[in-house]
Amino acid sequence: KFEESELLKNLPTQFFATLVAKVNKKIAAGKDVINLGQGNPDQPTFDYIVKALQEQALRPINHKYSQFRGLHELKVAAAKFYKDQYDVELEPESEVAILGGSKIGLVELPWALMNPGELLLLPDPGYPDYLSGVTLGKVNYETFPLRIENDFLPDYDEIDKEIAKKAKFIYLNYPNNPTGAVATKEFYEKTVEFAQENNVGVISDFAYGALGFDNYQNPSFLQAKGAKDVGIEMYTFSKTFNMAGWRIAFAVGNSSMIEAINLIQDHLFVSVFPAIQEAAVTALLDPQAKVEINGLVNKYEQRRNAFVSAAKKIGWNAFVPGGTFYAWMPVPKGYTSESFADLLLEKADVAVAPGKGFGSMGDSYVRIGLLVEPERLVEAVKRIEKLKLF
Ligand code: PLP
Repeated sequence: KFEESELLKNLPTQFFATLVAKVNKKIAAGKDVINLGQGNPDQPTFDYIVKALQEQALRPINHKYSQFRGLHELKVAAAKFYKDQYDVELEPESEVAILGGSKIGLVELPWALMNPGELLLLPDPGYPDYLSGVTLGKVNYETFPLRIENDFLPDYDEIDKEIAKKAKFIYLNYPNNPTGAVATKEFYEKTVEFAQENNVGVISDFAYGALGFDNYQNPSFLQAKGAKDVGIEMYTFSKTFNMAGWRIAFAVGNSSMIEAINLIQDHLFVSVFPAIQEAAVTALLDPQAKVEINGLVNKYEQRRNAFVSAAKKIGWNAFVPGGTFYAWMPVPKGYTSESFADLLLEKADVAVAPGKGFGSMGDSYVRIGLLVEPERLVEAVKRIEKLKLF
């Protein structure tokens, strides 16, 4: 038997793996579980993209190693997409990196751009996998709170001045997982100021960028003046195009950060299956994209409306999510996020994600994934109502 490396032992346990195992056990026991736990889109990849993959998979050229850093056409398509959507200019070869999922870029970033012991700033609550990068890069981290009073945006004045000066990078994620909060262009302008004042690099995780409700178009961090001097943005195909299983994303922005990401990737990957990269070009540029994405946003918006109003009726008041497919719901008095999530699974057959998995600020919340149809969301609330907790 071989022993695990110290590095591996130090990695945090994969939070969702534990949750999924609990839920699966219940399902295997024959229970009709309403699963609102994991953030895995329930909709299929749009047809026009699957068709593109079918065609591309038949071309032998796509069965070889692709260019080392991914297809030039995909970088051009990403640049065009950013120009059309956000009016941001990007130079395809130096300001776009192709990734096998944005998680890879987010996790390898400290490894590529930080020295052991340097300081990273992370949101609390925040996407748990940011911590994997902390361990792999052997860096230190401090969290900054996202408070409901501030619509779950950071208050930069609240970050200790010395810590801000010491920090090398900050991660931001809007629309936000887990809270569903969205950001404004003014917020990103303040972020650039904070970054310049403290010499901190910014990583904007824009995984849910396309998912804004009530006709809100989420701004890109790169729209803020000077953003490209201080940071990058991660854009994934997983949530916008329902391509979570395909493992494809890109990073855009500051060329020295993009180069560092590409350098580390040169040693780990020879890039994504070329047919998937070709299909990703179609995903971004086909006129059908806008139609499909509008339909998807409407679907999530209907689910949000159904859930939030049903919850309100039983006295369970929510922060109304402005984007993503999550609702961040308070835990009743006397419960922790885990004891409440366990109760819902045991007594109501409703699976939710305990907020503690997203950081200590999350322990008084659970995250609801809006990943079933409105009727099922309403049914989940009815089952919860029977527990008479609100
Ligand atoms: N960032 C956030 C905030 C996420 O919620 C997720 C997926 O759940 C990711 C990144 C990872 O996305 P990808 O599928 O591109 O690795």
